[in-house]
Formats: sequence, C-alpha cells, structure tokens
Amino acid sequence: MNSKIVIRATREIRRLATDALRTAERQRAEYADAEAKQYQDLCIWTDMDDDYGGWETSCGEAFCLVDGTPRENKMHFCPYCGRKLKEVRENETISSVFERNG
Ligand SMILES: [Zn+2]
Repeated sequence: MNSKIVIRATREIRRLATDALRTAERQRAEYADAEAKQYQDLCIWTDMDDDYGGWETSCGEAFCLVDGTPRENKMHFCPYCGRKLKEVRENETISSVFERNG
C-alpha cells in the first residue's frame, strides 16, 4: 500500500474525529447554558418531608403549608423572590420535574 495514502487517510480520520469532538463539546455547552437559563427564572421548592408541611425554597427561605403542595394550593410564584415556583417532591430530581410538568 502506498504510504502517502495511508498518511493522508490517517490525517483525514484525525481531522474528522476532532471536528466531531468539537461539535459534541459545543452542543453540550449550549445545552448546559439553556438548562441554566431555564433554572435562573425559577424558585425551586423542595418538600422537606417533615410533619409540618415544610418546603425549602432555593432563594433560602422556608414555608409551611397546612395541607397539600404549593401547586395544589394554587401558588405559582415564590412570595419571597417573586420567581416562578417549581416544586420538587421527595425522591425527585429537578430534571424529572421538568419531564413531569413541563
Ligand atoms: Zn424564592
């Protein structure tokens, strides 16, 4: 086999692999930016799972509900920071919350 062809092919493969890697890294960075932007407009409320209906807010406060979740109590915005309220229940991750209720 012609060694020049082998060298050229090797360079071409390396170039394609580098391009693919750069594209993947750029897409991952864009996805992370979009995700961060989605979260910065929200206040995440986490169910403290105590006996007092306690919820912890991502803006550093706590709130007690006598019955039900913030959503069930028709709360759409955090009363402390004013951002849109998103609740996270026990055993849930933030990404699973977005899959559940958009
Ligand atoms: Zn808040």
